[in-house]
Amino acid sequence: MEYKIRCVGLLTSGGDAPGMNAAIRAVTRTAIFNGIRVKAIYRGYKGLITGEVKEFRTQDVSNIIQHGGTILKTARCMEFKTPEGRKIAYDTMVREEIDALVVIGGDGTFTGARIFAQEYNIPIVGLPGTIDNDLWGTDSTIGYDTALNTIVEAVDKIRDTATSHERLFFVEVMGRDAGFLALNSAIAAGAEAAIIPERETHEDQLEALIKNGFRKSKNSSIVLVAESETTGGAQGLANRMREEHPEYDVRVTILGHIQRGGSPTAYDRILASRMGVAAIDALLDEQRNIMIGIQNDEIVHVPFTKAIKDDKQINPEKVSVLQILSI
Ligand code: ADP
Repeated sequence: MEYKIRCVGLLTSGGDAPGMNAAIRAVTRTAIFNGIRVKAIYRGYKGLITGEVKEFRTQDVSNIIQHGGTILKTARCMEFKTPEGRKIAYDTMVREEIDALVVIGGDGTFTGARIFAQEYNIPIVGLPGTIDNDLWGTDSTIGYDTALNTIVEAVDKIRDTATSHERLFFVEVMGRDAGFLALNSAIAAGAEAAIIPERETHEDQLEALIKNGFRKSKNSSIVLVAESETTGGAQGLANRMREEHPEYDVRVTILGHIQRGGSPTAYDRILASRMGVAAIDALLDEQRNIMIGIQNDEIVHVPFTKAIKDDKQINPEKVSVLQILSI
């Protein structure tokens, strides 16, 4: 065997997502179960640079599975993008006797992990922790299901006022140029449409909406909009609508950070638990530079390069479901 892992470092990085704590619990307990020590690193890659590291025992992860956010905190760390910063991070690993890393985050986190792993020959396994679900190679990411449910609950409430006032609402959801949250919450909340970045190059979605007579027989309309620089998000589309169709009573709601918080759903807790176990199993199996994913309810290993670079496609069948059901 090339190496034996005696101590694994664990961090959460990038945007927080509900279910990260369940993943922290699962990684910690699985490592200890297998006789591996666990060092928790605080504030993402920043903690590796500042040396904010603490050894975890099983009780350090008690009573956290039901909480949103991350007990390890998370931060964006510019210094880790420099070779000098990564050298300091590596020195911390050597000092703390950490011989492998489990990183929980999104594509930025994995981009950093890939570079770091190559520079210093460190085994790193990633867990997809992001509400956006924008990573290739996994059907779902930790936090996505919770965010989806939060959005649906909020849109149900907006529907009440939209109906009473006969208004057109543009509701903006997160997604960083990915339309998964917008499209699926639109279906689940019975919205009239979703405007998503993936379709932006194919058609003018706002024009198509109007052409299809989306308000003909309705006394309220809700359009889910994925945040996007191209469309200008909900505000950009509302401004356009007011100019082109002053007859509509247009309102904008930007859901913002409520989408990130809250207790994770059962689905996210189970996903995070399975992925956490799989991360340690993968390291024991001498896997490295991979993200743990889920496909058709089976755990899979996805190389970082693929998870980051490949574009996850929107399912056209879902676009069609939304269109048919909003007549
Ligand atoms: P996410 O993981 O949610 O996509 P970010 O894009 O903010 O979040 O990335 C999280 C962190 O990963 C950054 O703050 C930085 O420390 C690290 N990172 C991102 N891109 C790189 C890169 N090109 N090189 C090194 N580290 C990176």
